[in-house]
Amino acid sequence: MERLTNILEKAGVAAGNLTVDEMTYLLSLEDKEDVDMLFSAAYGLKVRYIGKRVSLRGLIEGGNYCSKNCLYCGIRSSNRKLARYQLSVDEVERLAHICCDDGYGSMVLQSGELESEAHTRYIEEILERIRPLNLGITLSLGEQSYEVYKRWRELGAHRYLLRIETTNRDLYSLIHPSNHSFERRLDCLRDLRRLDYQVGTGVMCSLPNQTFDDLAKDIQFFYDMDVDMIGMGPYIEHPDTPLGQEFAGRLMPLEKRLDLALKMIAVTRIQLHNVNIASSTALQAIDEFGREKGLLAGANVLMPNVTDVRFRTGYQLYLGKPGLDENKDEFRNNLEKRIHDIGEELIIGERGDSPHYKGRRDSNAW
Ligand code: SAH
Ligand code: SF4
Repeated sequence: MERLTNILEKAGVAAGNLTVDEMTYLLSLEDKEDVDMLFSAAYGLKVRYIGKRVSLRGLIEGGNYCSKNCLYCGIRSSNRKLARYQLSVDEVERLAHICCDDGYGSMVLQSGELESEAHTRYIEEILERIRPLNLGITLSLGEQSYEVYKRWRELGAHRYLLRIETTNRDLYSLIHPSNHSFERRLDCLRDLRRLDYQVGTGVMCSLPNQTFDDLAKDIQFFYDMDVDMIGMGPYIEHPDTPLGQEFAGRLMPLEKRLDLALKMIAVTRIQLHNVNIASSTALQAIDEFGREKGLLAGANVLMPNVTDVRFRTGYQLYLGKPGLDENKDEFRNNLEKRIHDIGEELIIGERGDSPHYKGRRDSNAW
C-alpha cells in the first residue's frame, strides 16, 4: 500500500513522472482496494484537467472495404463471408447533420483502409460537404501518404486516430501479416503531427502473449510521442480471423480483459494528464456499464455510433460488437441520465478539443 501511495503522489505532481516499472506495477494490481485507489487518483486528474465533463463524438462507420489483412480484425480483406458496403457521400452528410442537430459537437469518420485516388477524392467530397457544419472532424482511415493527409487536413479534418496497436514489435509481427509495417505506422503518426492534426493513437490490450510490461511501454510511447488523444480497448476475438481461431479459448476471460482495459485508461491518465481518452465501444461489448466504468477510471470521451443499424452487421471488427441504435431519443435520454448518475455532465454542441493539443501548439517537439 505504501508503494502505491508513493507512486500515485509522484504521478500527481507532473505528467511523465512514472517509470515503466512503476506503471507495470500499477497495471498488475489485483486487490480491489488498490485498484479503487488507482481509479480514484486517475479520475481526480481527469477532473483537474478536464472537469466533470464528457465530450461526445458521433461515430460514422463509413465502409468495410479494406486492403489490409490484420490477423485480428473481422473486416480484414480475406474475410469473404462479409458483404462489403461503403456509405454514399449523401449518406455521410446526412449522418453529419444528425450529429450536429443532436449536439454531438464532433464526429468521427472511420472505415477500412483504402489507398487510391478515388477513395481520397471520396473523402474530400465528404469533407467539402460537412465543413460548413462547423463540427469537429476526426478521421480514422488508416495509413495514407503525407500528401493525402495534407489534402484532407486542408479541407477541415483536424483530428486523426491511428492506433499503433502494440509497440512490442514481435507482438506486432504476430498479429499482422508480414507485409504490414510497424515503421510505416510510426511514420504516419509523425506525418499527422507535422500537418498539425490532433493526433490520436492507442493499443489493444489483452492480446495473446502481451505482458504488463508491454502495456506500460505502450503508455510510455504515448507520452514520448506527445499525442493528444488516446483510444484503447480490449482485444476481442473474431471467429473468422486467423488470430481468433489460433487462440480460441486460450485468452483471459472477458471480465478480466475489461479490468485490464480500465487499468490501462487509469495509468494512461496518470502518466499523460491532459489528453483526451475515449471510453471505447469495446468496453461496452463486455459490460453493459463498461463505458461508464471507463469514465470513472479517467476517460473523458464517448463515441456513440450514429451509423444506421442496417450497416452495423457489416462492421463487426470483433465478436459481439454492440448493435444498439445510439442515436434514438430513448438511448440519448438514457445516456444523459447514466452520465448524470455518475456525477458527470455531457458537453453538448462543443468540439471538445484535447487540452493537451491546445497546450503544445507552439512547440515543435518532433
Ligand atoms: N482501418 C482503420 C480504422 C478501423 S479499425 C485502422 O485500422 O486504423 C479501428 C480499430 O479497431 C483498430 O485500430 C483496432 O485497434 C480495432 N480492432 C480491430 N479488430 C479488433 C478486435 N478483434 N478486437 C478489438 N479491437 C479491434
Ligand atoms: Fe483494416 Fe483497420 Fe481492420 Fe486492419 S484493423 S483489417 S486496417 S479495418
